[in-house]
Amino acid sequence: MGDSTQYIMKEHYCPHCFAPYKEELCPTCGTRGNLSTPEDPIYYMEADYFLSPRIEDFLKETGIPYLKKGELGAGLTTRIGFSFEHDHYFIPLKAYKDFEEELKLFRQAVKTQE
Ligand SMILES: [Zn+2]
Repeated sequence: MGDSTQYIMKEHYCPHCFAPYKEELCPTCGTRGNLSTPEDPIYYMEADYFLSPRIEDFLKETGIPYLKKGELGAGLTTRIGFSFEHDHYFIPLKAYKDFEEELKLFRQAVKTQE
């Protein structure tokens, strides 16, 4: 428990990419982010009309907290160019770490079926 908290505190968080990183600057966009907090929303995946309910079922059944696009605000979605045709799922950093394996496996399973 103490270990995982320290691990999180050493990381930075990029509010543009919705991703944690260990370097000084975000490796994707070069932003100097803030130290990450357990509540920072991490981008998980997008889903169309058919896939979205399956993701929500999985997250709810596994007990993983999440945010869906729209709850973050419309301004954000236009700025990073997300499509409005899809739902976008974000997982709070703490839960993202706690359920890393489950989240990875589910995403792989979903992508394989496409
Ligand atoms: Zn970035």
